[in-house]
Amino acid sequence: MHAALHARHRAVLPDWLALYYRQPIEITHGEGRYVWDAEGRRYLDFFGGILTTMTAHALPEVTEAVAAQAGRILHTSTLYLDRPMVELAERVARLSGIPDARVFFTTSGTEANDTALLLATAYRRSHQILAMRNSYHGRSFSAVGVTGNRAWSPTSLSPLHTLYLHGAVRTRGPFAALSDAEFTAACVADLEDLLGQVGGDVAALIAEPVQGVGGFTAPPDGLYAAFREVLNRHGILWISDEVQTGWGRTGDHFWGWQAHAAAGPPDLLTFAKGIGNGMSIGGVVARADIMNCLTANSISTFGGSPVTMAAGLANLDHLLAHDLQGNARRVGGLLIERLRAATAGNEAVREVRGRGLMIGIELAGPDGPSGSGAPTAADAAAAVLEAAREGGLLIGKGGGHHGAVLRIAPPLSLTVAEAEEGAAILQAALDTVRVTRT
Ligand code: PLP
Repeated sequence: MHAALHARHRAVLPDWLALYYRQPIEITHGEGRYVWDAEGRRYLDFFGGILTTMTAHALPEVTEAVAAQAGRILHTSTLYLDRPMVELAERVARLSGIPDARVFFTTSGTEANDTALLLATAYRRSHQILAMRNSYHGRSFSAVGVTGNRAWSPTSLSPLHTLYLHGAVRTRGPFAALSDAEFTAACVADLEDLLGQVGGDVAALIAEPVQGVGGFTAPPDGLYAAFREVLNRHGILWISDEVQTGWGRTGDHFWGWQAHAAAGPPDLLTFAKGIGNGMSIGGVVARADIMNCLTANSISTFGGSPVTMAAGLANLDHLLAHDLQGNARRVGGLLIERLRAATAGNEAVREVRGRGLMIGIELAGPDGPSGSGAPTAADAAAAVLEAAREGGLLIGKGGGHHGAVLRIAPPLSLTVAEAEEGAAILQAALDTVRVTRT
């Protein structure tokens, strides 16, 4: 049956679809940490969709939960209760660490951040937002409006007035040589300076604990706790965008904010991506007094849809029962070590960094877009991505304006043998860049 499918799919490159890659492969099915394309080739999936396949492809518990719920009722809208939504909300509220937490489900990370920004601006009666340089928070007008990296935005217009802070990127610029403590002090001074100029009339700080699209860059542990002390003095809220960092992906912590736990939990937390294992679930967790700013008739038509909620519950059960956070810590730690060893002495590689199964390889070379003449780091990243794909490995890229960071974020059930397999393919792919550079 597959042969017929492959023949049908191969010829068509759909001009009528807005696509990310010019020559994307067509995925037909997956299992565990592997996916297959329409020509029958198997790939080890080191990007998990886009961090969306959190546990594993075709996880039987999730498939069965979706089928069972689909057989009962597909959708009712949040006008009514459905049991999976009630249960998932309770689980997420408890896990969030936010006291007296309330959950509002959306269908994406963008919509979750939009909702959090709406809540924060309504609660604080201010449209000024603090955000981080090099950040990414989604595609809508307001999410783009707080995104630091303009490469992701077709427009700089936004209903929000956003002030950007230092703190996430240290591999370049004046901060590169500072220790963690010096860097943290410099970033806090930057925040104080900014607030000195605009006063305390700011609704919230929105930040990713580890920047995702920005190239898997993490601030020193405790930076947001240090920020929080300043924010608290002004009553400014902290929104932790956990769209990429939630559910144990960073290994040491269930949420990214916990690396900054001295300041306690954030006021609002947004999530999406992995919780549905590919089904569209996003959401906001907020303290009750903040969530009460949603007007009584606030509704997301498809947010909390029972089929997605059933998938989320089954997926979360599997994640917790199999301690996939612990697996991310162990296997991720091994993979980082293996990649560091594999790239030692490779001048094409500037840095291998990461936490758990969120690993970035930043490539060296001049800044600038790929394909613009003289070879840039972004050209090297594009070449490695292609070579890895040829070798049977899917990875992502991102980072900075032009994308010079390879991003590795497999399903959290990755085995040691699969980590070894992927590292070997990646080493060979990186070596092709070394050869062309010397
Ligand atoms: N926030 C972060 C940190 C993200 O990485 C993304 C997507 O990559 C978003 C928000 C937007 O999520 P979505 O694509 O589900 O709208």
